[in-house]
Amino acid sequence: MSIKDNLAVVRKNIADACNRSGRDINDVTLICVSKTKPVDMIYEAIEEGEDTFGENKVQELCDKIDTINDNNIKWHLIGHLQTNKVKYIVGKNILIHSVDSLHLAEVIEAESKKKGVVSDILIEVNVAEEESKFGIKVSECEELVRKIAKFEHVRIKGLMTIAPFVDDPEDNRKYFKKLFKLLVDIKSKNIDNVIMETLSMGMTNDYEVAIEEGATMIRVGTGIFGERHYLS
Ligand SMILES: *Cc1c(COP(=O)(O)O)cnc(C)c1O
Repeated sequence: MSIKDNLAVVRKNIADACNRSGRDINDVTLICVSKTKPVDMIYEAIEEGEDTFGENKVQELCDKIDTINDNNIKWHLIGHLQTNKVKYIVGKNILIHSVDSLHLAEVIEAESKKKGVVSDILIEVNVAEEESKFGIKVSECEELVRKIAKFEHVRIKGLMTIAPFVDDPEDNRKYFKKLFKLLVDIKSKNIDNVIMETLSMGMTNDYEVAIEEGATMIRVGTGIFGERHYLS
């Protein structure tokens, strides 16, 4: 199937999931995850009206931003961020989905201060507590949010999770529910400088369930661009 056809399917699924759960389609942002895919494929998606793209590697993200060089495109860093790469990201208006330590937030704060910008971030939560995954525990989240909230050049916009790889997306519903609840809980504390409006959850396999449980950003790669082939 072409990117055009794939996008038609994804958009229909998003609309259906919104209908089922009584949500406004405008409250769900589709992040087209273009990692490992050539810029030509990104251009195809842009032709079809998409404007939001996610990458998981800093170098690849920066290269694609430079090549495409279009201020109308919104870029998201969805993968793990090493502190030594923060300097390449800050100042480019990229939403960082993967902040999972005070130390990383401190480095983003310092670099943002240096550049005179405020960086938007999400806190990555390992809701399912999988050993292999980055992200903090649900029980650690509020404390980390309160500490980061004191930084003047970092603004927390919400939470992100990568759910387990499962055959049946229903198996992830409980994790999406849990992250939604955590977002609402933290929002209700009205912490200064914390916005808590963004819930980034759901990938190709489970984005419809994630939307039903309150996702405001879904990250879809394979469903749009096809299988990824990693050359090791
Ligand atoms: C690769 C990736 C995705 C997209 O995965 P698909 O299953 O291809 O949709 C979403 N989120 C993150 C963090 C990723 O690394």
